[in-house]
Amino acid sequence: MTLPDHLAALRDEALQTSCESWAKRQGWKLSPGLDRAGPCPMPGCGGTDRFSIHTGKNLFRCRQCDIAGEGVIKLVMLTQGLGFTEACELITGRRADAPFDPEKAAEIRRQNEAAEKRNRDDAERYRQKARREGYEIWQARSRDPGRPLVAEYLMIRGLLTARLVELFDQIRLGQHDDLPYMDRAKSGPWVQLAKAPAMLAPIQMADDRFGAVHRTWLDLAQPKGRLVLVHPDTGKALETKKALGIKQGGAIRLFTPENPRRIIMGEGIETTLTPLAHAFEPDTAYWAGVDVGNMAGKASRDPDGKIVQDRPDLADLDCWQPPDWCEELIYLGETEKAERNTDAKLTRGLLRAQLLRRQAREANPDLPDLVTEFVLAPEGGGDINDLVR
Ligand SMILES: [Zn+2]
Repeated sequence: MTLPDHLAALRDEALQTSCESWAKRQGWKLSPGLDRAGPCPMPGCGGTDRFSIHTGKNLFRCRQCDIAGEGVIKLVMLTQGLGFTEACELITGRRADAPFDPEKAAEIRRQNEAAEKRNRDDAERYRQKARREGYEIWQARSRDPGRPLVAEYLMIRGLLTARLVELFDQIRLGQHDDLPYMDRAKSGPWVQLAKAPAMLAPIQMADDRFGAVHRTWLDLAQPKGRLVLVHPDTGKALETKKALGIKQGGAIRLFTPENPRRIIMGEGIETTLTPLAHAFEPDTAYWAGVDVGNMAGKASRDPDGKIVQDRPDLADLDCWQPPDWCEELIYLGETEKAERNTDAKLTRGLLRAQLLRRQAREANPDLPDLVTEFVLAPEGGGDINDLVR
């Protein structure tokens, strides 16, 4: 889109405001961190944490009403229902037809470009630092091949069948005997809230490299075997399953046989191990997809910025893709929380894998065709592992 000079200057001036600083200006309440979550500002949406702004990438999205985009102008257009020019006027407080200084406009553009580069570099440094820290944790795992705490946890989850015991040595899970749980209040220092044994799993990228460590803190006295932790100040329940490093595009390759042709993938480790433990197939790899977004990939958007759930955006290269040897890909459904649209997203991920394989086969007819299947989560909530338990 080529804009007339006065509008380009207005746009560049508007872009000096980040999504995050616009949120601050509007008084939106968002959590601390790189990916800040809070109630959705769209009229009639709300909630508590469905809307988020990624401060590093200057992106925003709501998983309920499906708005998503990059940059403050799009954010203001969508949340205020304004056109492009009106949104720029609101952000800058300047009218589009007001006189402007071309030299100052050029200077603003240079500043924007420099700031963009800085953000990109910072984000990459942050990712690589997290990846290194994740790798150190994986390396610090217990060298006891028996991994008794992991075995006991899997038993609590109804997974320690004869089959799993037989394959246990080949399953890529680690045990950390005493892993600190760190948390951070609004831009404050990291604080250790607990220290407990943990189950570790490496998240591997398409090129086999280490991407991140997945950690599940354990408390084997709990009914589900997982540490239950509330924040000492806010009383809010904390997530005791977390990844550290780069996870987009990766998978937890729990079990890979010698000559696999099929992949069964659930979001979590427990879901994925359920068919391995209870309905093992020898030519099948059991890999966990870590999160639904990584398994689904981005969706296409219509011209209004609304996500079209069932249409994959094939240009998104940041999500997981099945390797070339995979002939059959099965996704396991997870608990369908209304606002997550999980089934629609996972179905989209399978469609995207098929479309990409079809494209790849045009260039390389030796590649196998890809058959996909979606196994719905059991009725009444929960995932396939809850059913087994
Ligand atoms: Zn919303």
